[in-house]
Amino acid sequence: MKRIVIIGGGIAGLSAGIFAQKNGFTSTIIEKHHTLGGECTGWNRHGYHIDGCIHWLVGTKEGTPLRQLWDTVGALDGVEIYHPESFMAVEHQGVTVHFYRDLERLQASWLALSPEDADAIQELCQNIRKLHSFTMPVDKPQDMMNIFDKIKFMLSVKDAGAVMQKYGKMTLHQLANTFQHPALRKAIASFLPEGNDIAMSIIFALGTFTGDQSSIPVGGSKALAMRMVEKYVSLGGTVETSCEAVDVKMEQGQVNQVICSDGRSFDGDFFVAACDPHVLYERLLKGRYPDPQFQKRYSNPKDYPLASNIYVGVGFAGTMDDIPRTLKFPVESLDINENGKPIEYLQMTHYGYEPSFAPPGHTVITFAINQFAPELDAWENLIKDREAYKEEKQRIGANVLRAMEQRFPHMKGKLQLLDVVSPQTYERYCNAYRGAFMGFWPTIQGKELMHNGKIKGLKNMVLSGQWLQPPGGLPIAVITGKDTIMRLCKQEKKPFVSS
Ligand SMILES: Cc1cc2nc3c(=O)[nH]c(=O)nc-3n(C[C@H](O)[C@H](O)[C@H](O)COP(=O)(O)OP(=O)(O)OC[C@H]3O[C@@H](n4cnc5c(N)ncnc54)[C@H](O)[C@@H]3O)c2cc1C
Repeated sequence: MKRIVIIGGGIAGLSAGIFAQKNGFTSTIIEKHHTLGGECTGWNRHGYHIDGCIHWLVGTKEGTPLRQLWDTVGALDGVEIYHPESFMAVEHQGVTVHFYRDLERLQASWLALSPEDADAIQELCQNIRKLHSFTMPVDKPQDMMNIFDKIKFMLSVKDAGAVMQKYGKMTLHQLANTFQHPALRKAIASFLPEGNDIAMSIIFALGTFTGDQSSIPVGGSKALAMRMVEKYVSLGGTVETSCEAVDVKMEQGQVNQVICSDGRSFDGDFFVAACDPHVLYERLLKGRYPDPQFQKRYSNPKDYPLASNIYVGVGFAGTMDDIPRTLKFPVESLDINENGKPIEYLQMTHYGYEPSFAPPGHTVITFAINQFAPELDAWENLIKDREAYKEEKQRIGANVLRAMEQRFPHMKGKLQLLDVVSPQTYERYCNAYRGAFMGFWPTIQGKELMHNGKIKGLKNMVLSGQWLQPPGGLPIAVITGKDTIMRLCKQEKKPFVSS
């Protein structure tokens, strides 16, 4: 039996591992962290559980191909799905804009707020509705499609394709500016992290959300990853944790061994790098096999932006049933680092629907504060002084609590800071390039990457994971993990077992 060594136990690595086992390979996942799941994670603090990932998961709708894939890898099998009533609510100048799941309700609420925007609202809702029939293609990667597959695919995305094309040429700000009401403009412009300034992103997010294709698995991110680990191990896969790959041994264009920082080494016939690509190209391959597509993107962050996060966990001694699950609200300007842009809005998510995440009668809340290029540099410098770094995280946490108390005076004295995560945390735990939590954001000027994971000059090592297709995220991770093994089966002239 041929042996596959998978570097990285995130969702892509786990997906690759599960399909490797299903397809008659033996495999081992080596993971630098003491636990698997990568960025799809959660952790406990002071009696609360902080979910570190899923705000929306595409592929929760029964009967869709992506849902089938999630079930095959054990991620959603038998899991209850929570359907939040709104994707997000945004407060601006005393008005709240709701992005409701029910598109009719969204449209009615926006029309009531701003009748003068009727044309723009109706056009937007009509186009979002066209995406309801769209399902993410998971059957085969594009490079394995024959002409008939391509025609079938084109026909299946006919309506959605035209909508995506229209909004793929427009920035989020341009779309926002087609509305007159300042709160609608603000809500649309700030719908996604700042670098993700392409109108297609909001259409896709709302298309899948209002079309019931994206929701939230109960139990959260860590539990989802652990179900995949269980599936993998039940199929005979083996896992090595606290095991960071630092080098590879090669002979005649073939990798034959991966070496880890503690001296452990792993031989294999094939190697799947399901870790960050920068780690693969620079640390493991020592710059000897550069990839022009990635180099172009690393050297042009303006056209290919990345986002990281400050992620703050807060415990509240009370319930929040009457507050939208995800709410963006204005705050008195909150400064982050000396080079950072002041924060004028905070985005919070509460987990009132997950009673097991907090002690009885309490609620856990998270805040995601996006960080971009200048702030990321500042964090890189700051961590050199551990005390200053810790102090800055505490200061940000205290400011978030203060802002929360100002917005919700009844919470005063009932909030507890649980944890503050910085972009450096993602680098430290996941080796994530610049702390990025997804891949390159799509932009108008940037070219869309559709990478097949091949490494030019190496026959038996490939890249997998969220960076292969923008903007990344969990669906791309699970799909690319599966695609990697599909290509390998083709190379080995084996039929691919997909279920
Ligand atoms: C706050 C936050 C919110 C998010 N929200 C959502 C959401 O709502 N919906 C969504 O779809 N996505 C979301 N994401 C993105 C999602 O988490 C990622 O897209 C996904 O987890 C990426 O999976 P991956 O396997 O490709 O990469 P990773 O998760 O980065 O996995 C790579 C793994 O490789 C390991 N590794 C790295 N280097 C080495 C090495 N040298 N040796 C051994 N192991 C190594 C890492 O430790 C890691 O476990 C969110 C992410 C964050 C941080």
